[in-house]
Amino acid sequence: MAAYVYDFAEGGREQAGLLGGKGANLAEMTRLGLPVPPGFTVTTDACRAYLATGAEPEGLREEVGRHLAALERAVGRRLGQPDDPLLLSVRSGARFSMPGMMETVLDIGLNDDSVQGLAKTSGSERFARDSHRRLLQMFGSTVMGVDAAVFEDALTRMKRDRGAADDLGLDASDLAVLAGEYRRLIREHTGEDFPEDPVEQLRRAVLAVFRSWNTERARVYRRREHIPDDLGTAVNVQAMVFGNLGADSGSGVAFTRDPATGRPGVYGDYLPNAQGEDVVSGIRNAVPLAELERLDKPSYDRLLEIMRTLEHHYRDLCDIEFTIERGTLWMLQTRVGKRTAEAAFAIAAALTDEGLTGPDEALARVSGEGLARLMFPRFDTAAVGEPLARGIPASPGAAVGTAVFTSAEAVRRAAAGERVVLVRQETTPDDLPGMIAAQAVLTSRGGKTSHAAVVARGMGKVCVCGADSLTVDPAARRFTTAAGTVVEEGALLSVDGTAGAVHAGAVPLADSPVMRYFEDGGTADAARAAGGVAEAVHRAMDRADGVRRLGVRANADTPEDAARARRFGAEGIGLCRTEHMFLGERRRLVEAMILADGQEGRDRALAALLPLQRGDFAAILAAMDGLPVTIRLLDPPLHEFLPDRTDLAVRVASAEAAGGHPDPHDTELLAAVDRMHEENPMLGLRGVRLGLVVPGLVAMQVRAVAEAVVERRRAGGDPRAEIMVPLVDTVEELRLVRAEVERVLAEVSAESGTEVRCPVGTMIELPRAALTAGAIAAQAEFFSFGTNDLTQTTWGFSRDDVEAAFFSAYLDKGIFAVSPFETIDVDGVGRLVRIAVEEGRAARPGLKTGVCGEHGGDPASVHFFHRVGLDYVSCSPFRIPVARLEAGRAALAGGTEGPGDAGDASR
Ligand code: ADP
Ligand code: MG
Ligand code: MG
Repeated sequence: MAAYVYDFAEGGREQAGLLGGKGANLAEMTRLGLPVPPGFTVTTDACRAYLATGAEPEGLREEVGRHLAALERAVGRRLGQPDDPLLLSVRSGARFSMPGMMETVLDIGLNDDSVQGLAKTSGSERFARDSHRRLLQMFGSTVMGVDAAVFEDALTRMKRDRGAADDLGLDASDLAVLAGEYRRLIREHTGEDFPEDPVEQLRRAVLAVFRSWNTERARVYRRREHIPDDLGTAVNVQAMVFGNLGADSGSGVAFTRDPATGRPGVYGDYLPNAQGEDVVSGIRNAVPLAELERLDKPSYDRLLEIMRTLEHHYRDLCDIEFTIERGTLWMLQTRVGKRTAEAAFAIAAALTDEGLTGPDEALARVSGEGLARLMFPRFDTAAVGEPLARGIPASPGAAVGTAVFTSAEAVRRAAAGERVVLVRQETTPDDLPGMIAAQAVLTSRGGKTSHAAVVARGMGKVCVCGADSLTVDPAARRFTTAAGTVVEEGALLSVDGTAGAVHAGAVPLADSPVMRYFEDGGTADAARAAGGVAEAVHRAMDRADGVRRLGVRANADTPEDAARARRFGAEGIGLCRTEHMFLGERRRLVEAMILADGQEGRDRALAALLPLQRGDFAAILAAMDGLPVTIRLLDPPLHEFLPDRTDLAVRVASAEAAGGHPDPHDTELLAAVDRMHEENPMLGLRGVRLGLVVPGLVAMQVRAVAEAVVERRRAGGDPRAEIMVPLVDTVEELRLVRAEVERVLAEVSAESGTEVRCPVGTMIELPRAALTAGAIAAQAEFFSFGTNDLTQTTWGFSRDDVEAAFFSAYLDKGIFAVSPFETIDVDGVGRLVRIAVEEGRAARPGLKTGVCGEHGGDPASVHFFHRVGLDYVSCSPFRIPVARLEAGRAALAGGTEGPGDAGDASR
């Protein structure tokens, strides 16, 4: 039978799945010879078994017993031994870090006897009594389910009775009385006594930590972070060390470099005479880690040395938790640290410079999502006056929203579409829903490693914490600045997470350096000129372009978009929609075309549209000179170009009511709108269907393209137009349209004396097209997957209807982890893509394939399109850098799928 328990000395970092991240890294540090209090890890297997059956897994008790005995032998003390007790911490730790989401119970092993032993060996009665009451409190709430407020109230009462300002004002005998009170409360609320038997305490604490995997806040966090619900948590059982034994003790957290910017240096917080919990909760204000050098130079030097060791060993930024017990340094935790997008790029470049990683690994460590974040604007510093307050720049970016003071209010207002800033004294895991809902988080207490800071960074939310000049009054829903300004709920705030400042009102925004770098052409020079993190971004982009196999094109309908896309690195246009070209002034011409009762009238209207369309295409072809431009024939139903039915009906009716005659044009339009009304326009007369039933429409558009090509050639250009037919179901549709396209191309060639040849291809955006791709490929030189419509028609979802109506319920229920409109549904829609690529290529070797849905700019989808072997992705101009970067990362991740391989290992 596989083991459920591993000693720290037995594991390693590669076992995070089994031992959880914390356990695997504790084992790794033990293996490295770093000072880790000894202990062992109960595996996630055991957790899953327990959660599945509700019963303690068979053999677990004995295994824990054996490992406990070995631990006791190693330290020479027994758990809860009355005269000199070994005490244990019981800590959660899942595969993926979920900071503060699950439970930890400290000081296991204390009871009425051993508390006296601890008092003697520590030389501090007060410390022992305090530890005991902390155990009763944590155990009582976490393990036995008593509401934590019950203990808090008792503590508050005790402080009031003794006239104590805080916990430190209570002496040993007060705390002993409090412990008695806690025990009474536990009995009162559970009908059960607190277990005095240390082994029983340990057993129950382990099972409680298992259960904490399923708390509401842990579930919310996992949903948000896309962490599967079935992983379970490991439990780490570890000898306690004490940071609260006096001035020569303390606890801290640190990063091996700045997690906000990536700059090297000493970053962290230290709290003298405290246990680690006190640092993370931000209850007392910690001192900067650099202070430790003054307080305890040997420990400080040792800590820095360990941080260097860790960074070299992990070859990455690490964050750590440590405790100093009477001058002895202990490592309690490390992991590869979360960081901002800016820091991710900066660190990737820096570690490559330091020779710790190669360029490919550096590329693997940055992400398109992070890049997208860096392209967002920041506050225009020139326009900014004195801030309301300054705090710690915990998570960069600029956010504007209305102030709210509770998580619930943030959720309520955000659901109504308002942008909010969550203002708290400090956050706790209970504030998570509000943090998710908010644009930014502002706290008056806590450092760079406080809950607010860590969680906001992980989410990419703007955060300023520790703005301690603010007096936040959540009950009154307002805060007061040092200058006496009162800001009430609902007031507009601008939070600058980059500078660590909060301003009244909405501050104007300025471009980010990364955006400037792309706008200036994305060259090394542009990166240098843009400054900031742009150079590190350039290094990653450069590498990505060097290794990617996927081409990247843009969805662009105007010369401006085409030019921007080109600056951003697009290698052509994958989707040029023509419908926008039918709006504005030209709407009247389209109306005329629709209302024409004979071919002659229709031809006149089309003839008027022709030169306008030609001009559009010529300008776009000029902007993309030398690169392919895929022009899609008109796609939406024609009635979309007509006025709103209600407006028309009202106009006609009110003219009639006034006894006059309605405008005959209005009457005609109303009749047309009624005639063309569709119950289900998405599935109605649109796409290729339109081209087949409206005579002259395809011919006009193709002529406009062909004449634009001629015009560009005459001007010395290199136009590369491609013609794309939308919404094809069957090859017959494509055959007919294609014949017309070729007829017009031949006509224009003859008239102009210039041979115009455009590849003709089709969108694959209906399941039937995907399933008959082999036949369709006979008529198509290229396929472009329209994954928006393909997702709608595969799932039977009308996007506009379903997203608002029930997607959040579907996400809550876990029916999908992410909307299939955001990230391609690999198993369903992806399978159709795979079939179409495979059968299309079999029928026509060299068939070009691309994607032009919004998925073309979504990182996870880009990886899928790489694996399935498409030639290119096409996305909106602003997503081009993201697609380039992710295409490079996908190439490094490797893995092309063989025929019929339907699995997706990445999920
Ligand atoms: P989290 O998942 O919230 O980081 P941890 O398992 O790290 O939870 O435990 C929370 C805190 O408990 C730690 O930061 C540390 O201060 C304290 N702690 C855990 N184990 C020990 C130990 N062996 N000795 C002293 N303190 C400990
Ligand atoms: Mg921790
Ligand atoms: Mg479509």
